[in-house]
Amino acid sequence: MNVKVLDSSIAGSILTELRKKETDSGRFKLLAHKLSLLLLAEALKSLPVREVELETPVSAGLGVSLECEVTFVAILRAGLSMIPAAVELFPRGRLGFLGIYRNEETLKPVLYYAKLPVIKDGFYFLLDPMLATGGTAEMAVDFLLSRGISEERVKFVSFVSAPEGLGRLEKFKELEILTASIDEKLNDCGYIVPGLGDAGDRFCGTEEVEVFESHGF
Ligand code: URA
Repeated sequence: MNVKVLDSSIAGSILTELRKKETDSGRFKLLAHKLSLLLLAEALKSLPVREVELETPVSAGLGVSLECEVTFVAILRAGLSMIPAAVELFPRGRLGFLGIYRNEETLKPVLYYAKLPVIKDGFYFLLDPMLATGGTAEMAVDFLLSRGISEERVKFVSFVSAPEGLGRLEKFKELEILTASIDEKLNDCGYIVPGLGDAGDRFCGTEEVEVFESHGF
């Protein structure tokens, strides 16, 4: 497993604003978008390109064309906060979604929704701002592998990661993880410390209201 922490002053200052409890949901969305742009630009930078000839107004020149298949997979709900940046950077990228919740009795993650293109030689970017226990991330990676996608074509992109979650993903030797921060630890409720709270609630504006939740009717 290859873990990279984004080395960027601007990303660090955006993450600092995201973490603050006084940052409201409107600002959170904007900051999440900016941080996602920086993270995804880094995550996409080593994709294979083809050299192409071109004509500028001045002369002939050489450039590159990014022609590979790319799929961005948002892990619901918080991963949705990273989709606008993915679309802005690489509009041709395909989109997929994984819904995973934690069973309150077994405490195990349960996959309740999956919709994504399966392209064996494509590259997959799993999007989840918070890599906490790693249970959801492990299930998401396992799901892609079970569809025949190879591990070296999968990247996990997060804003904040806990050492516990990174440890859980160690078994995926070829997986790449890109994060803006490795935080201290998880607390007893499974929140990252210091973290930024519940990223899904902060992004969706559902921190202080009753939320209806169902995984099937
Ligand atoms: N999910 C979150 O949204 N925040 C955490 O701190 C941990 C998991």
